[in-house]
Amino acid sequence: MFEIALKLLEKIEERGFRAYIVGGFVRDYVLGIESNDVDICTNAKPRDIRSIFKDACFSREEYGSITVILKHIRFEITTFRREYSYMNHRKPERFEFIDDLQGDLLRRDFLINTLCIDRNGEILDPLNGKRDIEQAIIRTVGNSYQKFSEDALRILRAVRFATILQFQLSDEVKIAIQKTKVLLKKISYQRKREELDKIFTSVHVKEGVQLLLELGLDQELELEHLSEISKFDDLIGIWAQLNVSSLYPFTSNEKELITKIQKVLKMDHLDSFVLYTYGLYVSSIAAYIKGLSKKEITSQYNLLPIKCRSDIVLDGREISEIVRRTPGPYLKGILEDLEKKILNLELENSKESLTSYIKEKYS
Ligand code: ATP
Ligand code: MG
Repeated sequence: MFEIALKLLEKIEERGFRAYIVGGFVRDYVLGIESNDVDICTNAKPRDIRSIFKDACFSREEYGSITVILKHIRFEITTFRREYSYMNHRKPERFEFIDDLQGDLLRRDFLINTLCIDRNGEILDPLNGKRDIEQAIIRTVGNSYQKFSEDALRILRAVRFATILQFQLSDEVKIAIQKTKVLLKKISYQRKREELDKIFTSVHVKEGVQLLLELGLDQELELEHLSEISKFDDLIGIWAQLNVSSLYPFTSNEKELITKIQKVLKMDHLDSFVLYTYGLYVSSIAAYIKGLSKKEITSQYNLLPIKCRSDIVLDGREISEIVRRTPGPYLKGILEDLEKKILNLELENSKESLTSYIKEKYS
């Protein structure tokens, strides 16, 4: 990834522009952590980038930033810029392309995110961000109050980096968060969810949640159950405990899982029928949240005589032949009866036992 990124810098610089790797990749590189994508900053404009990488895959250009996919790696290429007056405490209303790196670094959020790597693989660190990485501290580039007022999403980014990297927030950052946290109400739930997901899937999720609570962000994020959560094993499990599906955006699949987990959580005990109806994923998450062992639920699930309706050895057509009737909606009732009896181990799932039961009860 590093080599490909340097090649990309070289290609841009061959055309007379300047280009650097910046942001998360450099921060993670210094820390010895692998990155998923690479941010590049340059004085080349998006249209220059398009002409340099003619056969690369591009995404839609957004705010003068362009994503180039090369050898399956995402490069987010952003032209040096200065940003002006932020709209709704999130997006800059206006930005201006500039020609110098220093100016571009000053608009960034945290000092740990201002390190650059040049085409020779040398680290450039004009704002002394490396010191913060070494001291494991998160400080803003310039005045914290101003940074968070301009773009309140930075509050959650600060908590996210503190969580994932296990860094401390500086006192100035903590105080500024207290003063600006109400602005989180103005940020879209989608953006907030993206940051929260990163916190909730971190191996240090417990510390992350603790930090959100310490800063009182649960109020501003409308996560009133955050302090009650005790199980952090699964992202959807966490959201199910938070019970905010009507507020935060979820896909229909996620919503369905959350609703099912919440239903199972309300049940007194998880019997075979619950495991069968809700499946292993939902049951084991709910079981874990309830303090039961996932392992036990999994072995209980594996012992189920049937896992779905099609596991019943007789199908609707065969049943209709046994009862000597044309197939119809009545079959559903019989299948449900068989399902229950098999799961309760009152009936063996074999053709003989099911046939004689049906003959006796339904013919
Ligand atoms: P990661 O990619 O690991 O999530 P990152 O720091 O690279 O973390 P990105 O969202 O990829 O985060 O942004 C790249 C860089 O752009 C950041 O390192 C930072 O310098 C700058 N940046 C991103 N979002 C903001 C923001 N809201 N305000 C100011 N600067 C930002
Ligand atoms: Mg990045």
